[in-house]
Amino acid sequence: MAKYKIGILNGDDIGLEIVPVAVDVLQCAVKRYQDVQIDWVPLPVGYVSYQQTGETLPQITLDTLYELDGWILGPIGHMNYPKDDPKAVNPHPILRRQFDLVSNVRPTKSYCNLPSLHKNVDVVIIRENNEGFQPDRNMYKGVGEFMPTPDMALSARVITRRNSEMVARTAMEVAQQRNKLRRVTAIHKNTVWKMSCGLFVDTCREVAKEYPDITFDTMVVDTFAMNLVMRPQKFDVVVTTNMFGDILTDEAAGLVGGLGMAPGLCVGNKYVMAQATHGSAPDIAGKHIANPYAMIMSAQMMLSWLGNKKQDQGAIQAARDIELAIDKVLDDLQLVTPDLGGDASTEQMGASICETIQKLQ
Ligand code: NAD
Repeated sequence: MAKYKIGILNGDDIGLEIVPVAVDVLQCAVKRYQDVQIDWVPLPVGYVSYQQTGETLPQITLDTLYELDGWILGPIGHMNYPKDDPKAVNPHPILRRQFDLVSNVRPTKSYCNLPSLHKNVDVVIIRENNEGFQPDRNMYKGVGEFMPTPDMALSARVITRRNSEMVARTAMEVAQQRNKLRRVTAIHKNTVWKMSCGLFVDTCREVAKEYPDITFDTMVVDTFAMNLVMRPQKFDVVVTTNMFGDILTDEAAGLVGGLGMAPGLCVGNKYVMAQATHGSAPDIAGKHIANPYAMIMSAQMMLSWLGNKKQDQGAIQAARDIELAIDKVLDDLQLVTPDLGGDASTEQMGASICETIQKLQ
């Protein structure tokens, strides 16, 4: 029997609606496999936690996460946290750094019947998560954002060989597992940032030599931004630095139906965190119309990642079942949320995915 301890961290705003749906879908999928069991561990985080404990990221949450196999983190609406309280921190960059979740794996996939700018899009962008332009000065002792005079602001960018190596390795492994074009493209701007982008892309090239079955190439970020819009089908796995990845993954989501269609998985060598690309969408919070796809697929990726790590066929198959069920629900478009042209609630779309899973052979 493979047992997993998975944390539930709802986050803010629509997180309170989409995370419970993602948990229901995972639970529904693993229930079909007697050898797989998930122990769910709800943990306080975000504004609800602040109201209850005076902290947005209490120590008990951090301590407990070390004992888990993985966790689901809902979107965080930190822009609305009290600005002058040091206990109202933005939890997600802290979690990504404290648990060394260096790679953010963000797939973009089009579905035949959904409105999208292109058909047959299937690309995964791997974004370095913890470096780049660091607004947090404490992390790299003085590096970050600062104002030497009231009329001048400076930002410094951090790129290390270690993290570049880690994301490059994740990209190669994802390309092997997907077994599609078996191609990894490193995105950079070494024409201008010769040292920082230079170090990143040279490191990716070195790592690629260890994966002779994968075609490795590189592209300057502005050229890639245009190609992603015009010919997304020609890419397979893309690896890039933090800020380029942040922007390009939202651009990619725009190709296939918007942010509700943009899942993500933060991974390091030890821990894994399911976290959708989108934010907490305060404009639609409480209306139960948020698209749960991104959160469900983030959780699905986590289950698949854990299954592969433990060589657990039950978890791997349960993750595949979720994918199959979502394909069916998005094919017939009967029960989808308004952003996808339907009129189902978040919970109705989730229930429809669960019912479809139960009917799978
Ligand atoms: P956002 O991603 O929350 O919303 C942008 C637009 O996309 C909104 O119109 C929203 O309604 C829509 N949208 C987002 N997710 C959706 C979903 N699942 N279904 C349907 N529509 C969806 O970005 P924002 O408004 O710029 O930011 C809101 C808050 O989220 C801010 O506090 C921001 O800092 C935070 N944020 C958090 C994360 C994260 O936790 N990973 C990421 C980005 C922004």
